[in-house]
Amino acid sequence: INHSNGGKQVQLIKEKIIENYNQILNEINKYSPYPEKVKILFVSKYFDITNQKRLIEWGFNYFGENKAQVYRDKIKECNLEKVKWDFIGRLQKNKIKYIIANVNLIHSVDTLELLEELNQKALEAKRHLNVLLQINVSEEESKAGLSIEEFKKNQEEYFKFENITIKGFMTMAPYIGNSNEIEICFSTLFNLLKETKDKYPELEELSMGMSNDYIEALKNGATILRIGSKLFE
Ligand SMILES: *Cc1c(COP(=O)(O)O)cnc(C)c1O
Repeated sequence: INHSNGGKQVQLIKEKIIENYNQILNEINKYSPYPEKVKILFVSKYFDITNQKRLIEWGFNYFGENKAQVYRDKIKECNLEKVKWDFIGRLQKNKIKYIIANVNLIHSVDTLELLEELNQKALEAKRHLNVLLQINVSEEESKAGLSIEEFKKNQEEYFKFENITIKGFMTMAPYIGNSNEIEICFSTLFNLLKETKDKYPELEELSMGMSNDYIEALKNGATILRIGSKLFE
């Protein structure tokens, strides 16, 4: 998948983005069972540094990137004081170094080995990391993520790392799912959080919902919407 819009430069119109953003805020109030918990993560992988800086000037301050090197390059160029950055893409162990210094939340931890490596790197950097476990609810082969079965089998193993707090779960709904499949995916993740929270009360975030399915995600208790194209198209 080419997430960069084929190299075409995205045209940003401030008024339009603000209007779209406000529309999503209204929908949060309308559809979420707990609107006060819901955050909009602005997925900024579509933008170069110039556009990124514009978005920050316009007041947006919570972004998600899916490529480690791009993440590194952007945070180098942008003032970090008022801006939080999450990492949402597949993370290779040898690229942890590009994000570790200031990442706010890593949404895409999908193996025990990666957690182990993150913990090691966090120790070395004297950092504490907040992460989400990415769950492949629909068990599509093409998708990253742990199956629920895998997670449940070794549940305690995931929570034993001193320098890591698992704050919740992330999922991506089936690309070509019908609304019923999407609904099942999100409600299954909601239930997993609810069950697991009894033992691990620090679990509080559900990162689910993108431009095409965020209303379904909201209805099913999402706390972080990862929205890109809907904001600027
Ligand atoms: C690109 C991306 C998004 C946002 O996608 P849109 O459809 O543009 O809203 C959300 N999550 C992940 C992991 C992504 O890679």
